[in-house]
Amino acid sequence: MSTQKGKIGVTTENIFPVIKKFLYSDHEIFLRELVSNAIDATQKLKTLSSFGEFKGELGEMNVKVTVDEKAGTLTVSDHGIGMTAEDIEKYINQIAFSGAEEFLAKYKDNANAIIGHFGLGFYSAFMVAKKVEIRSLSYKEGSEAVKWECDGSPEYSMEPTDKKERGTDIILYIDDENKKFLQQSEIDMLLKKYCRFLPVPVISGKEQEWKDGKMTDTDKDKVINITEPTWTKKPSELTEEDYKSFYHELYPGQEDPLFWIHLNVDYPFTLTGVLFFPKIKNNFEITKNRIQLYCNQVYVTDSVEGVVPDFMMLLQGVIDSPDIPLNVSRSYLQSDTAVKKISGYITKKVASRLEEIFKNDRADYEKKWDDIRIFIEYGMLTDEKFCDAAMKFTLLKDTEGKYYTLDEYRTLISTNQTDKDGNVVYLYTTDPIAQYSYIQAATEKGYDVLVMDGQLDSHFIGLLESKIEKSRFVRVDSDVIDNLILKSERKTAEMSSETREMLSSLFRNQIPKVEKSEFIVSFESLSSDSNPVLITQNEYMRRMKDMAAMQPGMSFYGELPDSYNLIVNMESPVIKKISESAEKELAPSLAPLNKEISENNNKIKEIRDGAKDGKLESDKEAEVKALEDATAAKRAEEEKLINEFGSNQPLVKQTIDLALLANGLLKGSELNDFIKRSVSLL
Ligand code: ADP
Ligand code: MG
Repeated sequence: MSTQKGKIGVTTENIFPVIKKFLYSDHEIFLRELVSNAIDATQKLKTLSSFGEFKGELGEMNVKVTVDEKAGTLTVSDHGIGMTAEDIEKYINQIAFSGAEEFLAKYKDNANAIIGHFGLGFYSAFMVAKKVEIRSLSYKEGSEAVKWECDGSPEYSMEPTDKKERGTDIILYIDDENKKFLQQSEIDMLLKKYCRFLPVPVISGKEQEWKDGKMTDTDKDKVINITEPTWTKKPSELTEEDYKSFYHELYPGQEDPLFWIHLNVDYPFTLTGVLFFPKIKNNFEITKNRIQLYCNQVYVTDSVEGVVPDFMMLLQGVIDSPDIPLNVSRSYLQSDTAVKKISGYITKKVASRLEEIFKNDRADYEKKWDDIRIFIEYGMLTDEKFCDAAMKFTLLKDTEGKYYTLDEYRTLISTNQTDKDGNVVYLYTTDPIAQYSYIQAATEKGYDVLVMDGQLDSHFIGLLESKIEKSRFVRVDSDVIDNLILKSERKTAEMSSETREMLSSLFRNQIPKVEKSEFIVSFESLSSDSNPVLITQNEYMRRMKDMAAMQPGMSFYGELPDSYNLIVNMESPVIKKISESAEKELAPSLAPLNKEISENNNKIKEIRDGAKDGKLESDKEAEVKALEDATAAKRAEEEKLINEFGSNQPLVKQTIDLALLANGLLKGSELNDFIKRSVSLL
């Protein structure tokens, strides 16, 4: 052929600025594209050879990346099918005409994986090069080697050249802003990132050895990739060790994974991969080691949002699918139907694999449960389908360290822990040490207590209540034991309203100030050997506050003080003693005051009842006001008497402090006073 000059066939005036700026946000991916093309060319020739369409020697089929800092060039060479002048005209000069698509259509089911999709990858070279040269010799018999050259304008030139070896060299004359791509270390890093698992050996630089006190190049070529990564093999050919070492290859310095799932689908889309359940040490420390997405063994990205279901962001490993477009935006990915199907498939597969592991080796599954439950609970909370599947292999752990499935547990507790309304009450603790005395009381009563101390448990409990019919979760310290599971109507202690009011003020006055806390005094007839005073926290309010702590939108609940119930056990001998002496010494002096108060109240009522149309004359109004003031004064007097009496009754303070202490609410000077008082009471 003679030298040919021409215009690259683009419909728009000049596509290069577009490619340079917008096509790929990351300049570095030009290397991925060029190496992918070289791999494609190699795979194509192998395919042709296996079909007998190429009869020559394949020879050494590798791809080489060479940097020449002096010449300012970066070269990607292959020994693949090469290109004739017509091929270049067709595949390179006609932008956006993808040769890969055409080839695939022809050899659909047998083509070794072809990476290229869009027919634009080659031009990404212009993101970093001021000039690009192609030197190529086609595999076709009698082909003439050809050299193509373009400086980034739509003009190119093409002429015959003297290349002897079959295949293609792509030579990039790196521009001034991108000099870093002339550094072997930079290229090594990029190849490690994008080409680590490519199916054809990729060579760049030389192996090094320690010589004369420094690292020196040997003359052995350095292969940077593993050509048959674990996920491309059959599960039956792999051992546990293979999976583990693959995991460590992906994420160096991590502990062994807990489980893995080998994915392998070819209909209705193609997908392979291995997902690992990592041992998560602290919270969601998962941001660093994420699932990597590959397209025919070419690394695409590790931001897989949208491709895998949200909750699986906690997993690690590799997903490889030629159906996931290589170079498109995230929003496109999320609306892509293939991608949606993939996500649904992965969910199903993960659920069925978990169920299988659970069924096959329950002991092992139980051992790992504490580590995987965060993942499963998160999945159940965020994915309806996964939730339904996971109801079968979700475990509950009780304070004895025994594990139950949801069904097993329900059977275990339903006889003993069903309340008067037919709800099965699941008792739980969020802190077995802090709530020890409550757990103790519950176990003595024959109840079982679950440990729900995970980060997601407060949400998870709500989910279980909605999923399990007639179930209620109650924290073990949210009421006194007899009332936790009410089997008949709640019984409060019987006493006159006067006595109740007197004792109520007596105890309320003696509660020390506890920051951001509020106490409501009530009286119950518990067993005589139960504690004299108990503090419980309302389940509903506590949950609201817990949720508020996690969700900034619910700050209203977060602002509320903690509200506790201070329950006085009227059957306790100490309380009996206190109430008897109050009855004897305090009640007589309160009686006349009470009488006056009630007389005043009656008078007020009488006046108000006599009012016409509910409106009082002004003299009556004044009378009511005077009576009310008098009542308030009497009340203050009563309070004072009760207070005086109370401060001479160290047992009141002592029983309250004991209850506070059991809940970790007694601190600072109050704690100090308690100790002093205890000593003096001895
Ligand atoms: P795609 O890979 O998506 O087809 P590219 O722009 O990367 O698009 O490449 C366009 C075409 O150029 C390829 O389909 C292929 O036919 C041809 N080509 C590119 N690089 C090579 C190569 N190293 N060897 C042979 N053909 C190549
Ligand atoms: Mg390509």
